[in-house]
Amino acid sequence: MSQKLPNRDAVSYGEAIRSKSVRVTKHRLLIMTALSHERLPISIRDLTKKVRSCNESTLYRSLESLVDAQLVRRVHLDGAAARYELSIDRPHHHHIQCVRCGLIQDVDICVRSKEEAVLRSTPAFASVVDHSLEFFGICKPCASR
Ligand SMILES: [Zn+2]
Ligand SMILES: [Zn+2]
Ligand SMILES: [Zn+2]
Repeated sequence: MSQKLPNRDAVSYGEAIRSKSVRVTKHRLLIMTALSHERLPISIRDLTKKVRSCNESTLYRSLESLVDAQLVRRVHLDGAAARYELSIDRPHHHHIQCVRCGLIQDVDICVRSKEEAVLRSTPAFASVVDHSLEFFGICKPCASR
């Protein structure tokens, strides 16, 4: 799963942003480029170290606009702050995190059509637009400790 992302340049991220009818700003471009270098979801605190021209609240607002445009995915692990990763250029996937050391890995497990059919029969909802699904476990090094 964790293959390297293609190295797009800023122009290409600009096109991706524009294609979602979102205004292309310097911060949005810097964030997309910084996220493209990350193999795993990253917290806002860690992202501020990589996008130094951007303070935490600007970073948060820019990230959320990219999440709304489905260019970036918000991932909730470890009950702490949300983490973010690019949602373009990589297949849809989920994550597993070690409850002891915090190690995160991608997993290729998803809800299949059977579960989505069940969701479609939920009376108050017309459609399912997205889902969030994370797994928690104990990694092998922690298990043998
Ligand atoms: Zn991921
Ligand atoms: Zn572990
Ligand atoms: Zn899924």
